Amino acid sequence: MTKPQSWEARAEEFSLYGFTDMPSVHERGTVVVTHGEGPYIFDTNGKRYLDANSGLWNMVAGFDHAGMAEAAKAQYDRLPGYHAFFGRMSDQTVMLSEKLVEVSPYDRGRVFYTNSGSEANDTMVKILWFLHGSEGNPQKRKILTRWNAYHGVTAVSASMTGKPYNEVFGLPLPGFIHLTCPHYWRFGKDGETEEEFVARLAQELDDTIQREGADTIAGFFAEPVMGAGGVIPPAKGYFQAVIPVLKKHGIPVISDEVICGFGRTGNTWGCQTYGFTPDAIISSKNLTAGYFPMGAIILGPELADRVEAAVEKIEEFPHGFTASGHPVGCAIALKAIDVVMNEGLAENVKRLAPRFEAGMKRLAENPNIGEYRGVGFMWALEAVKDKATKEPFPASLSVSERIANSCTDHGLICRPLGQSIVLCPPFIMTEAQMDEMFEKLEEALKKVF
Ligand code: PLP
Repeated sequence: MTKPQSWEARAEEFSLYGFTDMPSVHERGTVVVTHGEGPYIFDTNGKRYLDANSGLWNMVAGFDHAGMAEAAKAQYDRLPGYHAFFGRMSDQTVMLSEKLVEVSPYDRGRVFYTNSGSEANDTMVKILWFLHGSEGNPQKRKILTRWNAYHGVTAVSASMTGKPYNEVFGLPLPGFIHLTCPHYWRFGKDGETEEEFVARLAQELDDTIQREGADTIAGFFAEPVMGAGGVIPPAKGYFQAVIPVLKKHGIPVISDEVICGFGRTGNTWGCQTYGFTPDAIISSKNLTAGYFPMGAIILGPELADRVEAAVEKIEEFPHGFTASGHPVGCAIALKAIDVVMNEGLAENVKRLAPRFEAGMKRLAENPNIGEYRGVGFMWALEAVKDKATKEPFPASLSVSERIANSCTDHGLICRPLGQSIVLCPPFIMTEAQMDEMFEKLEEALKKVF
């Protein structure tokens, strides 16, 4: 085998890229990353980038947190791997389940572990199917989500995801129903108030449930703030309007907190920021501060009891992954929770959120930015051709891709999502680093518009 010479060429020769605009890669090459320091990453040419993407929303403690690496090493030295079934589980797994219930909105509950957020959503769907089947309702299988939602890439979690790109896989699978995205700025009708918009969405939900039959619906999944949809906080009062409809029909509410969990919105959970208590929480990413691939489902007391009763019936929950409750992952998650909650990271998000918002507001004065939106440490700018009419740029112009590429040239990593530019930096970001982020983004915007 002859290897090409450069890192970039080697990457392109041997790797299948996921979620990557390939014409951009062919034209610009691949940024091959060697190491990180705080919120910065470095490439094979020694160039430094401020990663306002936190890796993929997850590296909240930065890229070189000594305590995180030490926690991993200590656990690798003690017990480097194990599963969490057949009546055995590591002490770290026991401690993490306790901790997750303790920091959850619940006074008691039960935790199940996966390797990723996709698997956690997939597993939650199986838990609901298992539960309803065991309770004599095997027809309760349909899943309600929203357009623009992102819940993952497995066949089930991709079916929950409300993105047209999944059509290339022949997804969604039947029985996955997508409701209107609660983005008032984009989907509110002319002359419709935000309150009326929310009432319309609650009515749509009720109508959908009546049409499909409440006895065919297994559950409703929602991200408190849609992340990969382009950082879309819910319209004001959205959850307060839809949750009573779901409750009325006895449909469990699952909060997908893979991005929002552990401080991203300024509170431990996004559902706390938006004032609702779900029946279960899906966690991943920030759960380990990105230092280990891991997901967790936290069942609230009512679901925990019902699932427990279902398990008692057949004496087993026949599901699990080889690395479910991996001891190193659990030790890292315990450390990550401690770091975020006790080393000032969560406070930093709260403290700097107003500065973040002010910076976004200023950038949104650009005539080609139609909206700035976000909360805590997750924000987006939406590019538009016409600010007054909100007319988007033609997709073929790849405007957000061009802004992100220009940012990369300026040493800033941010994410193009649809027509939006998304910023979701690590929680350790300082004021000076935040200013650097805005300066670089402003330079990039000047190059494109
Ligand atoms: N749910 C949400 C809200 C996400 O943002 C993501 C990933 O970005 C997932 C689920 C899937 O997680 P993973 O990529 O770990 O499978």
